[in-house]
Amino acid sequence: MVKKEMRLVEREFVTDVYCDVCKKRIHTELDKLHEDYIHIEKKWGYGSKNDGKECSYDICEDCWAKIEAFMKK
Ligand SMILES: [Zn+2]
Repeated sequence: MVKKEMRLVEREFVTDVYCDVCKKRIHTELDKLHEDYIHIEKKWGYGSKNDGKECSYDICEDCWAKIEAFMKK
C-alpha cells in the first residue's frame, strides 16, 4: 500500500543572468531569452595568493570572444 500526501516545496531557481563584463542580460525566464554564456567558478586553494577566495562569473558570447582573442595573443 502506498500512502500519499500533498506537500508544498520551496525551490530556488535562476530567473535572470547578467554578463559580468558588459552587464547585458543574457538569460531570463520571464521573456524566454536564452542566449548562451560561459559560467566560470573557482575556489582558490590554501596557500595561494587568493587563499580561500571564491570567484563566480557569467560571461556572454560576445565578451567571451574578446577574452579568448586576448588569451590567444
Ligand atoms: Zn558581455
